[in-house]
Amino acid sequence: MTTNLATVQADFPFAPYRSLSNSELQERIAKVKREMGSRLLILGHHYQQDEVIAHADLTGDSYQLSKLAADSPDCRAIVFCGVHFMAETADILANRPEKLESRNGERVLVILPDLSAGCSMADMAAIRQVEAAWSALGDVIDTKDLTPVTYINSAASLKAFCGRHEGIVCTSSNAKAVLEWAFARRKRVFFFPDQHLGRNTSLKMGITNDQMPVWNPHAEDLGGNTEEAIVNSRVLLWQGHCSVHQMFTAAHVNQFRDKIAGIKILVHPECPQEVNDIADISGSTSKIIETVRKAPAGTKWAIGTELHLVNRLKAEHPEQEIHFLSPIMCMCATMYRIDLAHLCWSLENLQAGHVVNQINVKQDIADWSLIALQRMLDVSK
Ligand code: SF4
Repeated sequence: MTTNLATVQADFPFAPYRSLSNSELQERIAKVKREMGSRLLILGHHYQQDEVIAHADLTGDSYQLSKLAADSPDCRAIVFCGVHFMAETADILANRPEKLESRNGERVLVILPDLSAGCSMADMAAIRQVEAAWSALGDVIDTKDLTPVTYINSAASLKAFCGRHEGIVCTSSNAKAVLEWAFARRKRVFFFPDQHLGRNTSLKMGITNDQMPVWNPHAEDLGGNTEEAIVNSRVLLWQGHCSVHQMFTAAHVNQFRDKIAGIKILVHPECPQEVNDIADISGSTSKIIETVRKAPAGTKWAIGTELHLVNRLKAEHPEQEIHFLSPIMCMCATMYRIDLAHLCWSLENLQAGHVVNQINVKQDIADWSLIALQRMLDVSK
């Protein structure tokens, strides 16, 4: 457990907030925002529901948001309407040594309105499993030849693992540049927790599937692989995925192409290879948004990413024809747990000096994570 929760929910009960109407909650949230002013920043991830996004001071992807909030000179409290790993990253960046020094040691409080807002992908790679895998790999290959790379969608403990083992963090925007950095230094990469981002990025770099064995943390021996597969590997992929993006299939792409002439397929690299291989464009959340923004009126899209973001793009771009790529509702169910009631409850307690659901990453984990994050920033310069 990487968090030290200053949670006092029994004394400051959440239950009464459940019976408030949306308009009462909205008014009370707006009141706290007015009264706390620039000391408070509410961050809303792109996949968050609209009624929560309406209260966000900043919207963006997880890394953009953490960086923007950390760079705000006035901010003393961040309420992150995202998921757990995002709040951890915000805590690490906002309270890194030079930022603390500029505030005379005062910490920025980081709050996740509902602690059950986790990420199914991040949960697929626990630090004890990664450490066990590293040790087992060390019996077959020289781990000095292996760079651990963790997607930013992972627990801080995994980022710290990468910091300690000469590894690095990546986002979906810079994954290729990060892998190039890793291959310039060492022979192999151990990529976790998202196998799809790792595979889709590596394929674009000419690495083939037979050079990318998948490590199953629940398998008995060598993650379910032979010694030969490990020895011949260039990228070892962790068997993890995003439960939202995993649901898009090649059949969905083909159905749209059969139905709508000229439609363009725009997907996130967390989607499986079969979807990425046949899409017109694959890119990060920011790239998806920018691509739609820059497209001429009348462009037809089927977009494979989280439902709330696609619906928002649809509303913002009536001049274009935008479809959701899947007939199934693919939304981030854990992020959806952050609702107006939890936002209001955490804000009113914060204003009253009762910090609920604080995310406070342990110092040694934060220090090593920052090293891995800084390597990523240096690569992206
Ligand atoms: S969309 Fe997927 S990767 Fe992103 S927070 Fe939700 S479960 Fe995690």
